Amino acid sequence: VAKAAGRNCIRFTTPDIMAMSHRKQALQVEIRSAIETGQIDVAFQPIVSLADGRVTSLEALVRWEHPDLGLIDPHELVVAAEQASEILPLTLFVIERACNIRSTLGACGRDLQVAVNVSPRLLTLERFSDAVIDVVHRHAVQRGGLLLELTEDAMMDESETVLRNIEHLRDGGIDFAVDDFGRGYSNLGRLAGLEFRRVKLDKSLIDNVTSSARTVDIVRGIGRMAADLGMDVVAEGVETAEQFAALQSLGIPFAQGYHFARPMKPLLLLPFLLGKPLPVEKRTLRAVR
Ligand code: C2E
Ligand code: MG
Ligand code: MG
Ligand code: MG
Repeated sequence: VAKAAGRNCIRFTTPDIMAMSHRKQALQVEIRSAIETGQIDVAFQPIVSLADGRVTSLEALVRWEHPDLGLIDPHELVVAAEQASEILPLTLFVIERACNIRSTLGACGRDLQVAVNVSPRLLTLERFSDAVIDVVHRHAVQRGGLLLELTEDAMMDESETVLRNIEHLRDGGIDFAVDDFGRGYSNLGRLAGLEFRRVKLDKSLIDNVTSSARTVDIVRGIGRMAADLGMDVVAEGVETAEQFAALQSLGIPFAQGYHFARPMKPLLLLPFLLGKPLPVEKRTLRAVR
């Protein structure tokens, strides 16, 4: 496919570019029907309290198992959806599924907040907040039941529409989180100014929290500041017991990662959370239900 031409340089041939744009186009035209037929679906990953291992919330993660192309990377799907002007319907679909899983769990006496990722571009859409609030009302989601995750770069845009959408959603009882904090620019002042409910520490910080003293200081610093601001801190991508222990000793209250549980489709998630027996191979899941 791509030919490496010297160091740090990838050159694409004309057929490569054609193949790429064909794939992109194919994805774009298929998104709508893929949602309707259930090819596009949602997995949910538990977020656990590090104090006692209890699951306190879930993150919804879109999944597209394409019949010919296999599992599509969510980022690729989101870009295709943006370009096909299908990002609003796609996101509303994910929010619908998130509300559904909340109701199902609620009926079983489990009240969990569900988080949904929101592409920055959506906030520039005038009708975004109305559309989300409509779904939330239809499902009678209580205040704080839904949280929207935004990456920091989304917050670089301070246009009136973006701020109005956020304010309107907040008034409607919807919480916000900064996602992937520590990956890019990571402006602590900006973090304070946003007054979001939650901050999620990027996996790149967690990857180094057992090996780099500097990373330990950064994680401790962000953790303290977030706590002072009344924000929850969630460590993302926790894969090992060593990382778990390090985060616990740094006073980080919540975590998410393969060490606790992978993203699961509702068919696996519900028995996992509600305590029905799991298939033997799933018994390695460590989180306390
Ligand atoms: P994210 O929001 O930061 O989500 C966390 C990602 O880390 C997920 O990848 C999750 O499966 C993965 N992950 C969780 N624990 C571990 C771990 O211990 N180790 C490793 N290596 N990975 C872990 P996923 O599902 O592939 O999603 C990638 C990104 O795509 C998400 O990153 C989010 O930015 C975006 N995304 C996913 N679903 C949606 C969606 O419905 N809408 C939008 N706009 N973006 C989405
Ligand atoms: Mg996220
Ligand atoms: Mg993240
Ligand atoms: Mg990410």
